[in-house]
Amino acid sequence: MDHYPCCHLIRIKKGKFSIQHIVTLSFDDGFLKSNLKIAEIYERYNLSACFNVIATGADDSFVSPDSGQGNIPKGNFELWNDLQSRGHEIMPHGFKHANKSKIPFEEAQTLIIDCLDIFQAKLDGFDPRHSIFNFPYNQSTPELEVWLPSVLAAYRRSGGGLNQLPYPGMTKLTTTGFGPENCEAHLDQEIEQLLSAPSGWLIYNTHGLDNEGWGPIGTSYLDELLYRLTAIETVSILPAGKALGVCK
Ligand SMILES: [Zn+2]
Repeated sequence: MDHYPCCHLIRIKKGKFSIQHIVTLSFDDGFLKSNLKIAEIYERYNLSACFNVIATGADDSFVSPDSGQGNIPKGNFELWNDLQSRGHEIMPHGFKHANKSKIPFEEAQTLIIDCLDIFQAKLDGFDPRHSIFNFPYNQSTPELEVWLPSVLAAYRRSGGGLNQLPYPGMTKLTTTGFGPENCEAHLDQEIEQLLSAPSGWLIYNTHGLDNEGWGPIGTSYLDELLYRLTAIETVSILPAGKALGVCK
């Protein structure tokens, strides 16, 4: 496939400062109440949030995969299109949130293709070649990782939150998270590590706000974190696709 040309973020400037650190809070699962609040908080700072949603998550037939999601109501594509039009990023997080490391390759491949088909049908302007597949549970297989770059721009899996700054052709993004209880202390540590490195991109996988989902963060914590990070001249808070240059 042809990769969409990536931007060189090192050259992107915030005022007269070059960006040395990127922070992506990668919000999974598409919880309705949390995502509305997250979008509103990001908008206070003129920022775009990064939402990874399940293709069938709002369907009546959707079966909650585990206690981490419980029966928390999820948003639908009407909401995802609205959030996207407000500048937020909506990326795929599976057809039904299956753990792809526990099923045969062909089955995992079919689920991913079915997920992308739904996104193409329901999300305005969606193009898989400009999208990032965010593995449920961050679990992939080597076979899937060989195949995925032929259909998508990149994928996100486990392997640690700190990544290199984006570069052309970067297809593998790694992430970290903490749960099932509140993940704020762990996220603070990861941010501290990022800021103590000369440069880097922290992709931190989180879910809902307050008591929604696995490893949540508080509403006021998110607000204060964005306030704190936007004050640092060399830090940029970006959704993953925009950081990678696959989204306009
Ligand atoms: Zn998930």
